[in-house]
Amino acid sequence: MKISTLSIGDELIYGEIVDTNAVHMATRLYDLGIKVQRHLLVGDDLFAIVDALQYLAEGSDILIVTGGLGPTCDDLTAQAAAMATGQELLLNEEALARMVEFVGREGGEFMAASRRQALLPAHCTLIPNPTGTASGFIVSLDGSFLIFLPGVPSEMTRMLNDTVLPFIQERLVRKPVIRTKVFTLFGISEAEIDRIIGDLPAPAAGLAVAFRVSFPVIDVKLRGEGVDESVVAALLETATATIRERLGEFIVVEDGATLDKEVARLFREKELTVSLAESCTGGLIAKRLTDMAGSSAYFLEGAVVYSNGAKSRLLAVPPKMIRDNGAVSAPVATAMATGGRIAAGSDLALAVTGVAGPGASEEKSAGTVFIALADQSGCEVREYHFGGDRRQVRSLTAYTALNWLRRYLMLR
Ligand code: ATP
Ligand code: MG
Repeated sequence: MKISTLSIGDELIYGEIVDTNAVHMATRLYDLGIKVQRHLLVGDDLFAIVDALQYLAEGSDILIVTGGLGPTCDDLTAQAAAMATGQELLLNEEALARMVEFVGREGGEFMAASRRQALLPAHCTLIPNPTGTASGFIVSLDGSFLIFLPGVPSEMTRMLNDTVLPFIQERLVRKPVIRTKVFTLFGISEAEIDRIIGDLPAPAAGLAVAFRVSFPVIDVKLRGEGVDESVVAALLETATATIRERLGEFIVVEDGATLDKEVARLFREKELTVSLAESCTGGLIAKRLTDMAGSSAYFLEGAVVYSNGAKSRLLAVPPKMIRDNGAVSAPVATAMATGGRIAAGSDLALAVTGVAGPGASEEKSAGTVFIALADQSGCEVREYHFGGDRRQVRSLTAYTALNWLRRYLMLR
């Protein structure tokens, strides 16, 4: 089935808002196995809209349009729909009744100007709008269906879900079986991943592999498609096993889970407590841990120890050690973690000290970071050299530290 989409609005062509409606529609359609054929953006211009409707309808079975159904004079979509299909624009009594009912339900007063919103092509099928005044509608043009939805994302989303997607699904001749699997990888480049799993079955065999970089991680999405449920499941299972085997050490989470949630889950499961001593991350790790509801069960405290004085006063790091090695060093990271663990009385203590940059400090280049993890049996320290700007170095440091906690907890 060929489906195209059209977004209407001056704000879109001036770049004032992002066309999230197009993204949402494409995503939902792709879930059904349908790739959007073409997508266009036009401003609030009657002739441009008519033109776009005719152009897109010609090559599509279904065209979904959003925007310009409101009550103001820049809302021209219904008029364009009537023109494109050679129909009259008439007051649609049912649409009007729904509007009056909706406004009444919301406790408002019906404005005469809003009647404009009920002026629709003479022959159309209404699409109910449970959360707004503008009805959507469907008209046909030379064997294609033209589906019109409001531009407001929440209204569009609801109507797409409730009415439009079922309408499309009913008309799909062959309903494909689609199964997906997502791996979130950290510490490896896209090119490297591609080299390692480039030999997985090709799209022709019903398997598509897609990469999405979402700093600092890369999502690898497998999408199996076919007519037979068991064939698709087997295809995906084999590919999943291959990826786990070859890239297992880089896989952080699967199927859309997040590192932070996984760390939270593991802390609860293992019933261990943790404290933090952060220098270059300035509390970023504490923020991420405490973003999780229920984190008080395992997170005891975190200190942002930016100055040398604070490291000594709060974590008992000997000043001489800082003078001899510099604050960004393995001994200081170790002392921060062990001192922090004693001060907090926690099972684990994690410490970070590094140069976020830009520019070097203490003769250590930007991106040099030491992370230490202390528990009752001792302390391990690791040295990293991260690339990127200040924001990226801090974010990589926090992610690396949390990922270390995840791995540590998994082995307990
Ligand atoms: P209204 O009744 O609010 O006038 P409408 O159907 O006329 O609805 P528009 O006026 O085109 O829709 O858009 C309403 C609002 O919805 C816009 O101000 C914008 O914030 C948002 N919007 C419209 N189109 C899109 C789009 N393609 N992507 C994201 N947001 C959009
Ligand atoms: Mg509008």
